Amino acid sequence: MAQVTCSFCGRNKKDVDLMISGIHAHICDKCIAQANQILAEEMKAKEDPTSPSFNLIKPKEMKQHLDQYVIGQDDAKKVMSVAVYNHYKRLMQKKTDDDVTIEKSNIIMVGETGTGKTYLARSLAKILQVPFCIADATVLTEAGYVGEDVESILTRLLQSADYDVESAERGIVYIDEIDKIARKSDNPSITRDVSGEGVQQAMLKLLEGTSVNVPPQGGRKHPDQKMININTENILFICGGAFDGITRNIGSRLNTRPLGFNSKTSDSNVDLKKENLLEYVTAQDLKSFGLIPELIGRLPVLTHLDPLDRTALKKILTEPKNALVKQYTKLFQMEGIEIEFKKNALDYIVDKAVEFKLGARGLRSICEAIINDAMFDMPSDESAKKLVITKAYAEGKFEKSKFKKLKVA
Ligand code: ADP
Repeated sequence: MAQVTCSFCGRNKKDVDLMISGIHAHICDKCIAQANQILAEEMKAKEDPTSPSFNLIKPKEMKQHLDQYVIGQDDAKKVMSVAVYNHYKRLMQKKTDDDVTIEKSNIIMVGETGTGKTYLARSLAKILQVPFCIADATVLTEAGYVGEDVESILTRLLQSADYDVESAERGIVYIDEIDKIARKSDNPSITRDVSGEGVQQAMLKLLEGTSVNVPPQGGRKHPDQKMININTENILFICGGAFDGITRNIGSRLNTRPLGFNSKTSDSNVDLKKENLLEYVTAQDLKSFGLIPELIGRLPVLTHLDPLDRTALKKILTEPKNALVKQYTKLFQMEGIEIEFKKNALDYIVDKAVEFKLGARGLRSICEAIINDAMFDMPSDESAKKLVITKAYAEGKFEKSKFKKLKVA
């Protein structure tokens, strides 16, 4: 029988792992792999450079996606879906269009810690499939001081984009604890405070959209590294902060507002529920809190997050796509063990999160404290088939955990 050789490279059948035969020709696995690579490169080169490399969906669908992960926070979801949609529409705007320029819609979120600010920003980046990074405003300082330069934020974004500059330039940056760099006094004539106003000033440059030289490895530890130039024009910045005490500003502003025609008594505002005051947050309140007007101006979309009540916490445990209960169910399922959470056990977990003022963030550590023993023992126990978490079980494990030592403030 004639020897079978690859019609492309001429290798003999016995010298290759796989040979595929066609009508008049043969091809070996090596040539298939090489052809595949060439094809991928050619296709990439042919791609329309103006076509978006992100997954842009309409605001309504975006919110529906967010609903699968984030419980409640309808206002924030709606406002952010629109802002993000417009931001990425702006990116798709062709240069030849008329001279209407759509401005950037950087976002600022006000809401207690643990209410889902970071989670919302992260979920949006995931839906859009763009690079995402989180930066903490408290570690930033003005250039020349101890701490991180503002540019270090972009190092992180670049890393999350695998050093693909173009893709980083379309990413989302979440800046946490923006309230912590507030000027300590509303009076601008006060002596400059390094950590606050200076950092705000330094951030302006990033937010407005300029070219920034970014150290690819970050920090000042690598003084010889070659800087990478990043244009921040199309990067979406989302800032978040708890702004502790801002409700006082909002409250006093609302109560001193001139009364409208419909207001019969001077205390018509007293039914504004305290926990809802954040709903009424305005740029003016952020200024009174100590953000400089230039910074506020570059964060034109302002939204709030509601505090999470017991109902919301319970939903967070069970409903989102990657709810904790679903995650534990899967983990145990992989061991062939069925896990069941009784309703009163879930109530107990929520109770403890509220009692220790841990919010949604605490749910995970409370669950871990309760289930850890089972996760340690059961995988080695052949006969283990089912774990039922009752309130008594949860209480027993929790009481023995380190939480017991935490005093409620
Ligand atoms: P924040 O940034 O507001 O301080 P996070 O977004 O970091 O809070 O929230 C901490 C964790 O709590 C999240 O990773 C998420 O698992 C959970 N979480 C908080 N809020 C929600 C919510 N509204 N819906 C679902 N999970 C939430």
